[in-house]
Amino acid sequence: MNFTIMKKIELILFLSFLLLYSYNVDSQNKDWSLSTVTHLEDKITKTDGSIRYFIDPKSSTTARDSIIEITKGYIEHNLKLIGESDLNDSIYIVLVCNKDDMIKYAGGRISGISILKDEYVPQNMICCIPKVLKHELMHMIISLKWNPLIKNYIGHPDWLAEGLAVYADPEAEDLYDGTLEKAFANFYQNNKLLELDSLTKFPSIKSKEIEIAYIQSGYLVQYLIERYGVQKFKELWLGIDDFEKIYGMSMKCMIQKINKELDKKYND
Ligand SMILES: [Zn+2]
Repeated sequence: MNFTIMKKIELILFLSFLLLYSYNVDSQNKDWSLSTVTHLEDKITKTDGSIRYFIDPKSSTTARDSIIEITKGYIEHNLKLIGESDLNDSIYIVLVCNKDDMIKYAGGRISGISILKDEYVPQNMICCIPKVLKHELMHMIISLKWNPLIKNYIGHPDWLAEGLAVYADPEAEDLYDGTLEKAFANFYQNNKLLELDSLTKFPSIKSKEIEIAYIQSGYLVQYLIERYGVQKFKELWLGIDDFEKIYGMSMKCMIQKINKELDKKYND
């Protein structure tokens, strides 16, 4: 989920409070529940190296206790996908129980946000429901690893940014019968695939097509990385060349190629 400057500004107070709160926790050197009338009333904190967790105590004990191990696994997996190794940046991870709880952090019933620190936001921060943590971590990891290598960074088309996060965690999507590939083939055969314009800038989150946009993009990224390798994908991400120069065909032709292959595979 991309984040606007307005939303960033809305986060300032929240994060300032969070930092103050962290300081208090540090000074008392313990993990505890805080009862106040603010957003952060009862988050449980955990720290693991450069990552600090703020966990809703309503979440299950297993989820709470295993979150550090689970997150380590997600980070390792996501780094491997893009051919990178360690991640030492400081990140705050705020885990909420449901989308309604996201309203106070993101202003809407979304599943998660990933936001880099800048002049408005004092910490790299992910705030999400547990189901999309791996997805949001992919956004965070790529932003920390590759975006600083881009001169005059202005963002990526939605299909590229979201597609990578979906590829990192297909399980966060509603893939009724299993894989991104099958879902993509199904959309193609039912004439539901979106046009390029709707992939560059996704339809509204309320649109029925949004689910297709995520899955279609996820499979496209999977195909590019698994068929052509992560190095070419990195060139595309860094804007070293355009799609056609890197892959030897336009994106439209690439999609036609995929459609043809999948149609054959799932019709035989
Ligand atoms: Zn996303």
